[in-house]
Amino acid sequence: MNEALPYRRIATEEAFSVPEVFAALQEWVAGTGPDEPDHDFLSFLFGQDLPGLQRVRRQLLDLEDERLEIMDGFGVDVHLLSLTAPGVQTLPDDRAIALAAHVNDRLAEVIGKHPDRFAGLAAVAPQVPAAAAAEIGRAIGDLKLNGVVINSHTRNEYLDDEKFWPIFEAAQDLGAPVYIHPRSPSAQMAQPYKRFGLETGIYGFQAETGLHGIRLICSGVFDQFPRLQIVLGHLGEGIPFWLWRVDYMHPVRSSHNARPKLELTPSEYFKRNFKITTSGMNWHPALRFCIEAVGADNIMWAIDYPYQLTEGAVQFMNEAPISDMDKHKIFHGNAERVFGIAPATRPVTIREGGGGQGPGEAATSGSR
Ligand code: MN
Repeated sequence: MNEALPYRRIATEEAFSVPEVFAALQEWVAGTGPDEPDHDFLSFLFGQDLPGLQRVRRQLLDLEDERLEIMDGFGVDVHLLSLTAPGVQTLPDDRAIALAAHVNDRLAEVIGKHPDRFAGLAAVAPQVPAAAAAEIGRAIGDLKLNGVVINSHTRNEYLDDEKFWPIFEAAQDLGAPVYIHPRSPSAQMAQPYKRFGLETGIYGFQAETGLHGIRLICSGVFDQFPRLQIVLGHLGEGIPFWLWRVDYMHPVRSSHNARPKLELTPSEYFKRNFKITTSGMNWHPALRFCIEAVGADNIMWAIDYPYQLTEGAVQFMNEAPISDMDKHKIFHGNAERVFGIAPATRPVTIREGGGGQGPGEAATSGSR
């Protein structure tokens, strides 16, 4: 399979954890009830002995062994790593702050060992916004991480609340994209999702995170922070499909007075301030729609390892019925630009053309 790789592949929503966070979350699950968002998700993840969950737990804690083997096996060049949801956002303040810093140190260490294979998003504890802003400064400035991950709501509050703005200020100042990753819906919206198991990846994660994105747009956050970059997975958590109607219904075009006046239309903010990734959405019609709706420059490839299988995500993008130029942007070019990931130092996986350009032939033609 490595013989015919035509693209560099940078996967941008790839989860990991560390034993200390696993232990803290297991303790948290044992001490809380099912009304706490993500209690059910985490008690399932940690409490069941199904083979698939054993695999996920093992692969979350592994960085340098099985993960690299799987990446090599399917021609994945880079994992942009992020601490798995819900991060440290359910934990007590002091423990969350300390664990986020520990995770970021660990990330910097493993990236330092494998600079051409890993990049990383900083974990933060948004429950203490000033501490989160300081950690963003350390993680981006000192540790040279590539952005920030926040798992949607924190204690049922959303980032449009002004108390969280120090986080956006730090991210904008440092040019650090904020990846808003899904988690289970906030307590206010969770109840109807609990029946039929709708809270998690099947729909609830998307509903929660899509709402978060729309709140950010309609709150006017991007008039305050015009250069802030937000990244959403799952092809934009449903928002691209709604953009026309959100524009149509917004006070720029209607007269609803409960919404702040904005300088741009909602879709203009989405195209200016958001990037989306393909995590867990290996569906060509949706990809082609998003290219048309928000532009190929705003889309990046992702696997959502280890929750989704690498093979399916690679095949999906290999076979995507889109232009060669768009495929290059989505597989690696946009990720290099948005997250400041250095261009390839492994020439074997970068190739413009199709067949007949295996490593051996390239070496031969180069030696003439
Ligand atoms: Mn994910």
